[in-house]
Amino acid sequence: MGADLRKRCKRCLAAIPPQQGSARPRIYCVSCRPPRNRPNPRLIDLPKPQESSEPAGEVSPLVTTYQQVLKAADRLATPEGAHVMHLAELFANGRHTAAGAASLSKELRAAMESALRGAARAPDAMDELEERRRRKTSTA
Ligand SMILES: [Zn+2]
Repeated sequence: MGADLRKRCKRCLAAIPPQQGSARPRIYCVSCRPPRNRPNPRLIDLPKPQESSEPAGEVSPLVTTYQQVLKAADRLATPEGAHVMHLAELFANGRHTAAGAASLSKELRAAMESALRGAARAPDAMDELEERRRRKTSTA
């Protein structure tokens, strides 16, 4: 034991400092293989609502329409309203397969119905939403 205490990087042959703790001994030096930034396992990666293929800051007309309808119904500042907005953004900005778009569309519709339950409906805007939803689904 101890013939070769100073380990050397397999790539650049730089001396590798003795391993600390119980981590696996290095084969490569730090500059050849930088330590990975391991994600904290206790942190959950929340999906980003604005992960879109469109330029940032551009709000889809569909999202705006949902927002307007919710606002007109005084439902924008409710958990249900927030849910609708989240789904609307996903629906409008995400890239979906046809099946994905269809199921998201269904969810969005259900969320909207639940958000507007008991509220005075704004028929014109709702018709427009239906139309936009259909178009988006059929082109997906
Ligand atoms: Zn190296």
